[in-house]
Amino acid sequence: MEGNKAVAYKGPGKVEIIDIDYPGFELKDGPGVNPANVGRSVRHGAILKTVATNICGSDQHMVRGRTTAPPDLVLGHEITGEVVEVGPDVEFIRVGDLCSVPFNIACGRCRNCKERKTGICLNVNPDRPGSAYGYVDMGGWVGGQANYVLVPYADWNLLKFPDKDQAMEKILDLAMLSDIFPTGYHGAVSAAESPRRIGPSVTPRCYPRPHAVAVRPAAVTGLNEVVCESARVSVIHGSPGVA
Ligand SMILES: [Zn+2]
Ligand SMILES: [Zn+2]
Repeated sequence: MEGNKAVAYKGPGKVEIIDIDYPGFELKDGPGVNPANVGRSVRHGAILKTVATNICGSDQHMVRGRTTAPPDLVLGHEITGEVVEVGPDVEFIRVGDLCSVPFNIACGRCRNCKERKTGICLNVNPDRPGSAYGYVDMGGWVGGQANYVLVPYADWNLLKFPDKDQAMEKILDLAMLSDIFPTGYHGAVSAAESPRRIGPSVTPRCYPRPHAVAVRPAAVTGLNEVVCESARVSVIHGSPGVA
């Protein structure tokens, strides 16, 4: 079996590269793994060789010791990778496909997923709706700041790039598709589509983490202004300025 190196949380302010098992299609116990998930079969999963990944602002909560993340929790929920193995129940994804991996793990078959609320999938975290790779209290799915990572619902979660060579030319930019760009876009679209809920005198707000990438989607959606906790961002003809 191939080796697998990963970035792990060791304690407040400390991460290290450690050796972990190559992923399989049956979940094993490990740091942060929910006991109810141990032994779970993921025949609909795929194993990816990570090509690009990001450090998210959300990772900082764990790394700076503000959570109950256990030592050796492998980090990383912003994954772009090439499929190297597929489980027997995978139908549409093939070995060799280059894919973006949405940070939120979702089954695609529960009530919430069918209502497009994939951030609160009912089948991926025994403790509560919603899950992600490499994150404390999210079910214990091993993170993707690693050579190899398991994606449990391949057909539903993997977004295949149609032209692999073209995608590789911009792969570091495309790595933003797994979380930070769609997170900002979602906030901007939700705000633009909900003027009554927000109210005419209330400017859409965003959090510091996605604020940088909320600017371009705000331009796309026609929002004039996004207020962040740290700055007021005005979008004028697609040219963002920070006040
Ligand atoms: Zn993220
Ligand atoms: Zn679901």
